[in-house]
Amino acid sequence: MRQTLVAGNWKLNGSKDSIQTLVKGIADGMSAVNGTAVAICPPYVYIPMVQNLLTGTTIGLGAQDVTDQESGAYTGEVSASMLKDIGCQYVIVGHSERRALYGERDEDTAKKYAATRKEGLIPILCVGELLEERENGDTENVVARQLDAVIALEGVAALADGVIAYEPVWAIGTGKTATPDQAQEVHAFIRGKIAALDADVADKVQILYGGSVNGGNAAELFAMDDIDGGLIGGASLKADDFLAICTA
Ligand code: PEP
Repeated sequence: MRQTLVAGNWKLNGSKDSIQTLVKGIADGMSAVNGTAVAICPPYVYIPMVQNLLTGTTIGLGAQDVTDQESGAYTGEVSASMLKDIGCQYVIVGHSERRALYGERDEDTAKKYAATRKEGLIPILCVGELLEERENGDTENVVARQLDAVIALEGVAALADGVIAYEPVWAIGTGKTATPDQAQEVHAFIRGKIAALDADVADKVQILYGGSVNGGNAAELFAMDDIDGGLIGGASLKADDFLAICTA
């Protein structure tokens, strides 16, 4: 049985006050969450504060991005070793917003995956197709290409050290969720593709679904064979909504 994981991606949201309330709300409700790991990914600047608030809880901590560089003249960047130093366990890499808004290419994401893994942190590798790509029948090609960039750089075994999040771009923040069958189809494709290279890795790797998951649709998505939890955007900003997903 694979461990399930629900991770919240807060994106560019929050303030000291709102984060204090949110983390307390999630922590207070954790006694109802059984058998799934839970993590939250605040904006960089709030990570140390959130880490303090999480003391004594089982909630994991992650960042939303990382540079592939180790140190040096890279103004504005944050390295995996820094994230490790301040207590992160997870790093989201290749989120579709990084790809679409900041021009992150597959090979950039692969380098971020490698940098994260090198520090012993867990990369959450986001893959997923645009609506146009789905409509053109290109979903599998796109997801395969995104995975292949990491496999080419790090080898297939490296995927066992991370988590994959399938996030159809057309479902992110749109309120349009992939149906459980649509999601399962792509998750099974991903697992099958990895299995063709290494069956053990395929069996082990957690594949999360992300894209407008909420308390009402989480249970049926998470019931699918190859869906091992979720990467949650909007619904991770309200404790009750996030907890409803974690208990699903
Ligand atoms: C995301 O951005 O990773 C995400 C899944 O967002 P949302 O849940 O808001 O669709």
